[in-house]
Amino acid sequence: MQKTAFAIKGNLFYSADKDHLVSLPSGYLICEDGKSAGVFERLPAGYEGIPVEDYGDSLVIPGLVDLHLHAPQYGYRALGMDLELLDWLNINTFPQEARYADLSYAEKGYRIFTEDLAKGATTRACVFATIHVPATELLMDLLEKTGLKTMVGKVNMDRNSPAYLCETDAAQSLADTEWWIADCEGRYQNTVPILTPRFTPSCSDTLMEGLGKLQKRTGLPVQSHLSENRSEVAWVKELCPETGCYGESYDRFGLFGGDGCPAVMAHCVYSAGEELDLIERRGVFIAHCPQSNTNLASGVAPVRTFLDRGLRVGLGTDVAGGFSASIFRAMCDAVQASKLRWRLSDDSLKPLSMQEAFYLGTLGGGAFFGKVGSFEKDYEFDAVVLDDSGLRSPMELTPEQRLERVIYLSEESAVAAKYVAGCKIKG
Ligand SMILES: [Zn+2]
Repeated sequence: MQKTAFAIKGNLFYSADKDHLVSLPSGYLICEDGKSAGVFERLPAGYEGIPVEDYGDSLVIPGLVDLHLHAPQYGYRALGMDLELLDWLNINTFPQEARYADLSYAEKGYRIFTEDLAKGATTRACVFATIHVPATELLMDLLEKTGLKTMVGKVNMDRNSPAYLCETDAAQSLADTEWWIADCEGRYQNTVPILTPRFTPSCSDTLMEGLGKLQKRTGLPVQSHLSENRSEVAWVKELCPETGCYGESYDRFGLFGGDGCPAVMAHCVYSAGEELDLIERRGVFIAHCPQSNTNLASGVAPVRTFLDRGLRVGLGTDVAGGFSASIFRAMCDAVQASKLRWRLSDDSLKPLSMQEAFYLGTLGGGAFFGKVGSFEKDYEFDAVVLDDSGLRSPMELTPEQRLERVIYLSEESAVAAKYVAGCKIKG
């Protein structure tokens, strides 16, 4: 069968691993049937004559991966940041999410969210919607059209939630979820449903048990929150006195990774000991959300420990606990937060480097989607072309320095073109 190939040319960057950033100035990145065929100084034998899109002096990086964000919260990002998690949920989040029962409001909110996400440097994301099935499907329809690859979750919550945003009981929550999954079948190419118990406090044991069975039957991935904030961790301890750690409150229902259950848990600020062992054993992905953890005064996750132990970790913006939807910004927040943690509370965990943060925002999180986040051969061809000519400087900067500036200045407007799985979706 004839394969379709093309190349893009520019200053290429990708992480070989967490410690090594590969750079190839004026290099060729070849796409063959939606996947990378590798990077080359010149077009190799067999590829002469393929179409080449020459991006000149632009920087070309793998698409960024956001492992955790809430689409219905996008509209009020950068508002009401002076609260801790549980108050913030009750005062800001729940009333806003309740509005997504109204499809015309949902259409407004989700259109803004999807258009903005499509413009920036993110190519893949794990997204929370709300408890409402029609609005969740609307969000999936809109995301599908952007060409971004996303996992989207209808949220489950049947207890400890305000009456206006609480499902009647576990049976109704499960019935809605099953109906939604069946309705998604065969409908999307880019968008995948992901099971989304909001967090242990808002899901009864009966609901968790049902979701566990549903996971087993469907093999769908799971996303939730874990050990984000001290009051939340104490609350879970009260609700589940028989569990040894917060992670076990998901694990006992088969919702915490392991064979056939890809799972991503946001935050893990207070994960330690037994919980980290369980995360490691089950291969759970950690979505590190440094900006949200700072805004809601949750703390700073021990990312150095995660990396040293070889745990699977990527970055999340956690909009709207995080006010910025930029994974560039999450990279720089991750570095800054790790420096403060090191200086103020634990000097045994050295700060993250920018190379490590770049790895987390590309290859680290990309692994949740398969072979994603690198330009090495056989990785899905997700590429972002950055025209940073607007970031002026009298200095002569190397391509590495220019990339560092784009990241620190979170210059999403530099995105000149974007490819996802070989399809050009912008530029
Ligand atoms: Zn969240």
